[in-house]
Formats: sequence, C-alpha cells, structure tokens
Amino acid sequence: MTDQSATTGVTDRPSDGNVAGTAARSAERVQDFLDRAVPGTPCLVMDLTAVRERYAQLRAALPDARICYAVKANPMPEVVAALAELGSSFDVASPGEIDLCLAHGAEPGSISYGNTIKKRADIARAHEQGVRLFATDSDADLTAIAEAAPGARVFCRVLVDNKGSRTPFGRKFGCPPETAVHLLVRAAELGLDPYGVSFHIGSQQHDATAWEHGLRAANEVFRGAAEHGVRPRMVNLGGGLPAHYTDSAPPLQDYARRIEQALDREFGDERPELLVEPGRRLVGDAGVLRSEVVLATPETGSDRRWIYLDVGRYNGLAETEGEAITYRLRTSRDGDPTGPVVLAGPTCDGDDVIYQHTRYELPLTLGAGDTVDLLSAGAYTASYASVGFNGFPPLPTYCIDGHERS
Ligand SMILES: *Cc1c(COP(=O)(O)O)cnc(C)c1O
Repeated sequence: MTDQSATTGVTDRPSDGNVAGTAARSAERVQDFLDRAVPGTPCLVMDLTAVRERYAQLRAALPDARICYAVKANPMPEVVAALAELGSSFDVASPGEIDLCLAHGAEPGSISYGNTIKKRADIARAHEQGVRLFATDSDADLTAIAEAAPGARVFCRVLVDNKGSRTPFGRKFGCPPETAVHLLVRAAELGLDPYGVSFHIGSQQHDATAWEHGLRAANEVFRGAAEHGVRPRMVNLGGGLPAHYTDSAPPLQDYARRIEQALDREFGDERPELLVEPGRRLVGDAGVLRSEVVLATPETGSDRRWIYLDVGRYNGLAETEGEAITYRLRTSRDGDPTGPVVLAGPTCDGDDVIYQHTRYELPLTLGAGDTVDLLSAGAYTASYASVGFNGFPPLPTYCIDGHERS
C-alpha cells in the first residue's frame, strides 16, 4: 500500500472542471439535508440530482454508447427509477437485480445479464421475464444459455489487464481472445446471436489508456470470428470510470478521447455498436456517508491518535479493505488544527480498521459525538454492508431529490 496524503474537505482540482463540480455541489446539497433532518448515524444519503448529472455527462462524452448502469454499485430503488426515467439500460448479475429493475421502470429489453456465473434456472427465469442479452465466457455457460434462453444475444467477456485499477477483478472473469472466438462461433451454431465482446479493465481505473487493451482484444476476436463467417457487431466497454476520491483520476473527457482514438485505430470505418457499464461513475459522487465519532484516543508518544467511527468495514466501508478506496472526509470540526490519525470502525474485529497506511489528518479537537462525512461514498457502500455483524445493522439510506424523502 502506498502512502498518500489525504485532505479533509472538498478540494476539487480546477482541472477537473465540471466533473468534480458535480461532487462538490452534491456534497453541499447533502450537507443541507443532514443539517435539517439530522438523521441517526451512520447513514448514506444519495442525491438524485447528481446521479442525473453524471448520466448526462457520460451521455455527452460517449454519445453513441448505450449506457447500462451496473446495479450492484447502488441498488436503491430511487436510483434505478431515476436512471430508467432517463432512458438508461441496466447491467445486472442476479434474479434479484432483474426484479428490482423491472419493478422500478426498466424494460426487459434494456437489461443485460452481465454475470458470466449463473444458474441455468436463473437464465430461464430471466428469459421468461423478457431478458434477451447475456454475457458468457465458458462453454458450459454458453450451453446453458442456448438451452434456457434460445435465440438470445450473447457477448463474450475477454480477460484484460487490470493494471491501474484500484479494485481489480483478478482472473475471475473473462477468457483469452482465441476462446472468445470459439465461443462466438459456437454460439452461432447453437442458434444464439453472437452479438459481441465485452471486457472490464478494473474498477476505479486511473489510467485512461487502459481501454486500449480491451479494444485491441475485441478487434482480435472480431477478426478471428470473421474467419469462421461469424460477425460480432458490439463492443461492451465495461465499467472502470472513476469517482472522486482523495487521489483524483483524470477527467472524463480524457477517458472518452482515449476510447475514441482506440476505436478509430482498431475498427476504423467498421465501428461496432457500443455499450458501457458504469457503476461507480454514476453514483459514487452522488452519495455522502455520515458517521459519528464513537471514541477518540489521544496521541501517545510516536503513536497516532485512533479515531473510532460508527461505520466501518462491515456496515458500509467494504471498499476500504486494503485501503483500495480512500474517501475524502469532511468533519464537524473542519478549520481546527489537524494531526495524523488512524481511522477504525466500531466492531470487535481486528480487521475493522479503515485507514492506517494511508495518511489522513483530522482536527485535533475531534471527539465523541462529532460527525465525519465520507464524501463520494455513493458506490459500493450500502450494497456491501453485512446484514448485522456484531449487531450493527445494515447501512440506512436516504435519497434527496430537490425535496427530501427517505
Ligand atoms: C461491477 C461491474 C461493472 C461496474 O464497474 P464500475 O467500475 O463500478 O463502473 C460493470 N460491468 C460489470 C460486468 C461489472 O461486474
């Protein structure tokens, strides 16, 4: 883990322009709500205005890509409904996520079953519900799709380098391009529509050039399949687009430009249909997680102060494992002199430490009852909370939408 300095407060870099502006304005709107409603802590507050802004920005940056919101990032019904209203499609992984989307305004035809690991019964159920688009990366899964969802469109996920990602996927998903060629050819033989290729370059990807690997692999698959008379026509760019944590990623425009250049280079005039599956990008900067200090210990000798919050690894901060994601913080004592701290969660688990390698400085006056807001915490927080480890309930969530409601 690298040591990096983190600051408290909303420190948008001017170069981020409108992109970080969304995060800053949203954090202010949520602050207003928190000041007025004073909900119990911890809690996550989602700002639908910011979700819509993020959607519009991505729509403008990648104008001809179909946007499939990756529901796992934040499955709040209000978020799904707001995106469905804007015409978003959805990337889902389970029957539960399909039901959620259908119940909140999504059309079955807008749903992409993007999980390559699925039971045959779940494929059949999705097909009965009208879902017609499925990811795959193995012979066994492809066979199950052919049997349980005859005639469906399939895209094959290829394995790509996740370097530059803060939360990489490892080798769990995707196959080499040669295998993808084989699977798409076989899909056609099985009466399926060999629609295209997908990849995911890893979540919170800080290297805007990372998509080049995926597009190169996709092109390789397209050419290989064509040799067998099979012509895939869609490339799914996956997720990976960033939210705004302590170490800012490049602006969205950089990603869009790099993707555009790579598309030109790989496909030229034979540009494929495009899909993109943003999770973190659409909801990360639209949420604030409010927590309260339970206990603050004084500095002893060379040991930093420990600040224990009422939120930790098991009730919302799963992504701080390995300190992969470093949230920006805002406290009720901002402005007072600061000193280095270790931040920890409230449970009786030795791993429930939030940040000890990443350098965080918090006000020296911070004590029990003060609030600490984790900014840009709208993605992979509430959806990752345990059902009640150590008796701490899952993270309560609220939504604001101009007017507030829960
Ligand atoms: C989780 C996931 C996404 C979303 O990734 P982000 O980095 O949050 O944008 C997209 N596609 C698939 C298949 C996923 O599993």
